[in-house]
Amino acid sequence: MSASSWWGGRKRRNGHRGEKATKLASPAPMRAAAPAVTSSPPSPPCMHTAVLVVPRYLVHATFDAFLPYWRARVETACFWFGVRGSEGRHTATTLVLPRLYQTSGNYSVVPDTLGDVARALRAQGLTNLAQVHTHPSGWVGHSLYDDAHAYSTQEGALSLVWPHYGRTLDVELSSVGIHELRNGAWVRLNSQEAAQRISLVDSVADFRWAPNAGGIADEE
Ligand SMILES: [Zn+2]
Repeated sequence: MSASSWWGGRKRRNGHRGEKATKLASPAPMRAAAPAVTSSPPSPPCMHTAVLVVPRYLVHATFDAFLPYWRARVETACFWFGVRGSEGRHTATTLVLPRLYQTSGNYSVVPDTLGDVARALRAQGLTNLAQVHTHPSGWVGHSLYDDAHAYSTQEGALSLVWPHYGRTLDVELSSVGIHELRNGAWVRLNSQEAAQRISLVDSVADFRWAPNAGGIADEE
């Protein structure tokens, strides 16, 4: 496996390649949440209590970054970098978009982009807290290739799989497959575990009065 396949390359038989882009029924991006994809394979219990705080703007920014590649019908990927906090409470701050080679069924990171990413983000005190990538259909499991070539081998690492090439903005991530590395194996979290593992928080909290129509008056 070449260095360029560090985080991508051809998928295994049960990966994404058999999924057809023609399954996409809607001609336009959708902002409504898609139905949750459920699966219930037995999984080892979570042995740690890490929480990733994710501002909602980051979900929106990720969706925006994926859209051109939904239109192009190719997989794409990004990282969520941020700050590691005390007691396992980390905060994602930054959407990182590496240069990729992309096809309808796979992608690979352009090797020299990784050094650029590491230098630029490390200099700001930021570290990689999660990877996010798209799949062609609603299937958001981890393929064997995803398992074997994920961005991190660190216990508790997070990998999110976004359905339909990123067509839908699901602000609650309910249709997104959220996977965590537990005891060396990638495990998909159920909805309760995902809610404990990822804490979505507002980016803007606006409690102002609505402005009245009319001109601007200086009454001081
Ligand atoms: Zn995948």
